[in-house]
Amino acid sequence: MVFAVATNNQKKLKEIQRILNSFDIQAKTLKELGIDVEIEEDGTTFEENAIIKARTIAQMSNLPTISDDSGLEVDALNGAPGVFTARYAGENATDDDNIDKLLEILEGIPKEERNARFVSAVCLYMPDGRHTVCRGTCEGWIATERIGEGGFGYDPVFMVKDKSYSQMSPQDKDAISHRGQALRKLKEEIKNFI
Ligand code: IMP
Repeated sequence: MVFAVATNNQKKLKEIQRILNSFDIQAKTLKELGIDVEIEEDGTTFEENAIIKARTIAQMSNLPTISDDSGLEVDALNGAPGVFTARYAGENATDDDNIDKLLEILEGIPKEERNARFVSAVCLYMPDGRHTVCRGTCEGWIATERIGEGGFGYDPVFMVKDKSYSQMSPQDKDAISHRGQALRKLKEEIKNFI
């Protein structure tokens, strides 16, 4: 079955395709569908933003659409950056800018107070309006410096036990990650929609 995936983030897309492919789902990218749109993510929760993204693309593509809205909640920052994770260091911030800001703001805070979680809300939105949203979370902590080379976004500073997301193989990350958990829950629900 063919699905659209509502993201322009190539690395996030790769993760979603990797996890969905093992479920026998063919994921089409926005580029493959010839869709070029800037979606305003003005929801106040990950779930709201996931629905906004998937609904927009389902209506434009007329295909069942899967979206992911994700972010980091840091306990010492009362849950920030939350839905602002992608724009933490400003509207056009790069991954490096965002990591620099996070490390700077947490400077001097000891390891036991650096707890954080990654959250992912994934939405399946059908062209007829039926939809569902599933949440996955992964508990961890924020390193004091970048550790490891792989991945994207905040991967080099998000630690699960003694390893950063960057240090994990793609399969190991998928097995525990916020996105992996959310997509595996979604898989259980997909059969109610097709
Ligand atoms: P979104 O694309 O609006 O959902 O923004 C998600 C933000 O969280 C971006 O800054 C991403 O880089 C970051 N992010 C989401 N998932 C991951 C991940 O698996 N590893 C590292 N950063 C992530």
